Amino acid sequence: MPAVAALSPEVLARYQPVIGLEVHVQLLTKTKAFCGCINEYGGEPNTHVCPTCLGLPGALPVLNKQAVEFAVLAAKAIGCEIREASVFSRKNYFYPDSPKGYQISQFDKPIAENGVIVVPDAEGQPKRIGVTRLHMEEDAGKSLHDGFADSASRTYIDLNRCGTPLVEIVSEPDLRTPDEAFEYLTRLKEILLYTGVSDCNMEEGSLRCDANVSVMLKTDTQYGTKAEVKNVNSFRYIRAALEYEIERQIGVLEDGGRVVQESRLWNNAEGRTFSMRSKEQAHDYRYFPEPDLPPLVVGTEWQRQILADMPELPEAKRARLVEAYAISAQDAATLAADRDFADRFEIAAKRAKSPRRVASILLSEITMRLRVGGLQFGQSPVTLDGIVLAADLTEAGEISSKQLKQLLDTCFAEGHDFAHVYSRDKPQQITDSYTIEMMIDEVIAANPKQVEQYRGGKKTVSAFFVGQVMKLSKGQANPALLNELVVKKLDAAV
Ligand SMILES: [Zn+2]
Repeated sequence: MPAVAALSPEVLARYQPVIGLEVHVQLLTKTKAFCGCINEYGGEPNTHVCPTCLGLPGALPVLNKQAVEFAVLAAKAIGCEIREASVFSRKNYFYPDSPKGYQISQFDKPIAENGVIVVPDAEGQPKRIGVTRLHMEEDAGKSLHDGFADSASRTYIDLNRCGTPLVEIVSEPDLRTPDEAFEYLTRLKEILLYTGVSDCNMEEGSLRCDANVSVMLKTDTQYGTKAEVKNVNSFRYIRAALEYEIERQIGVLEDGGRVVQESRLWNNAEGRTFSMRSKEQAHDYRYFPEPDLPPLVVGTEWQRQILADMPELPEAKRARLVEAYAISAQDAATLAADRDFADRFEIAAKRAKSPRRVASILLSEITMRLRVGGLQFGQSPVTLDGIVLAADLTEAGEISSKQLKQLLDTCFAEGHDFAHVYSRDKPQQITDSYTIEMMIDEVIAANPKQVEQYRGGKKTVSAFFVGQVMKLSKGQANPALLNELVVKKLDAAV
């Protein structure tokens, strides 16, 4: 199939994309959903298996209590209602990586329904995306198509993953753009990570996403025929796949064709989706209640116990950080994106004179150096104590921002904490007013135009003079004193 012909913005603007997402999330339980096998990624093929997850005749499933608790926690974190008595069903289909010939899932009575995830829309306004349902099920094994000498003629099966507990989270078709889909996934992942129910590691398949997408003319009231884009392994690629798929479908309709209901795979190398198999109106999975499991009853008391472990969620945390520490919404969002990171910030912010300064050092100086060095926060040579000291010294004007950068560079180069480097390399500072005034005079004389602007009422020009004197002093002028003297001199010059 040729690449999508470029469509004009006018044509694209006539259509409304409609997107719904199905997200599968592996739960971080110690053992599998219905047996005692260890629930762990990897391992020698077919070593984490037993008669139950191998589907041997006569083996009976026993539901993992921790999986239920994680499902309830995840469901409540996305605002779902919990069904007190949910029912497991058999979803029947044949596939080599599913030895029982069916998957234990939930069908008409899922454990949770009617949740919501709030995303920013194109204008940055909050938009509520409905979550239709969250249900429990088990993962299948894996077919291995590559990596063996006879891979050209054979496929191997690894059943270590078979029986891993999953929750499937299905959204309403409320998403209207690939960006909204990206935001939905980002928020959902953030919430799941906060609750600790999954590591959401997409590379290892602990979070997988399928997207249903259709387009309709904006003047239409009926949704168009949807295609399903399967198993894209990063949020960025999902956005790209949706962008491609939306344009492809519009192209088909513009050419007078019709969109076929089918599953499509994203090919990242080619940047396009291609047809996997056409899908009948609905698969006949012949669902029926799982006879070997009683209805799952999660009563009020058990729910109460589970919810006692509910952490503060990202949205609440962002709001509280702004309120408590007077930091920007942007900084609060960056901090709250990672629960541990936000916790660390709070420990330091409570001890420092200026929480804003701590946020700025943590988010720019420290984060940037960690990234360059390929380090995790736990590996940073600069401890929280070091960050507090650095923030306090900078805030008090004892060191300039340039000196701060130099000291941090040394910390990261030598692997020493800030207190150690600071006490050894304490930067030279010019704290003598007379010397600083001389330099200010020099800069004032050299920049009559800026003096004119200041005199004209543009007071912000003082920052220019501070910068120039700082440069002249090779970053050694005491910043607090310099600020004060520049304003004094400029005002005197008027
Ligand atoms: Zn097992």
